[in-house]
Amino acid sequence: MSRYKIEAFVIRTNRITESSRVLTLYSREMGKVKCVAKGVGRPKSKLGGKVELFNLIEGDLYKKETTELGVLSGAGLLEDFKGISGDARKYGFASAWCEVLDRTSHSEEPHPETFELTFNYFKVLRSAKTESAGLLFWSALLKFLTLEGYGPALDACISCGKPVARDRLLITLQRGGLIGHECVELDEPVVQVTPEALDLLRAMMELPLSKLDEIAIDKRTGKQVAEVILSLASYHLGLPRNLKSFRFIEDLTDSGRLGA
Ligand SMILES: [Zn+2]
Repeated sequence: MSRYKIEAFVIRTNRITESSRVLTLYSREMGKVKCVAKGVGRPKSKLGGKVELFNLIEGDLYKKETTELGVLSGAGLLEDFKGISGDARKYGFASAWCEVLDRTSHSEEPHPETFELTFNYFKVLRSAKTESAGLLFWSALLKFLTLEGYGPALDACISCGKPVARDRLLITLQRGGLIGHECVELDEPVVQVTPEALDLLRAMMELPLSKLDEIAIDKRTGKQVAEVILSLASYHLGLPRNLKSFRFIEDLTDSGRLGA
């Protein structure tokens, strides 16, 4: 049994008994780890109130190398994200991010850049306008694709390098970038985008999340960039297109759209 000190986000919690939960954490040191938090539901628990969804904690983890499930024996709260949990739309998109981390990462493979991206996304989302929650999520996912080596090339045709006419813009999923229609191969999966969507995708790749909160976009463009990014993430990272959080977001009464 080894002891690890980790800094981690709580990305999933499952109740297993009246007072105990299985937590999925995303840590700086070990990437994704699962652990049991015993007695967390009891009034005097040392873990009480700390191991809530989205919280950043400093935890003491005990774990055998041979088992997947560790035990969290203590935790200190480093940062809470009440500004997220108190807003349904932000909550939905933060949950979607947790699902992305859970679905696309293997246990105990550290990716400090992904940890930092998560921290940055949660911080910006916490104080962002409610309407920006979608754009921030899709931008974070696009930045995640880039970290994983699948950021789309959007300057010229990825096949021949020539400029692409703005009246017929296609993005190839397989080759990951803009492509002229004469260079598309038979049966190559492509997504068509408007010039506005292309410009927005470029901005989302270049600008920090904190600047993207200020961008105003129309629904159609938002929907298009969401479709491109989801298609890329699904194609390259195996991300399911029907995340549970997406259904939650679509069900929100004030706005039934998934777009940015
Ligand atoms: Zn070409």
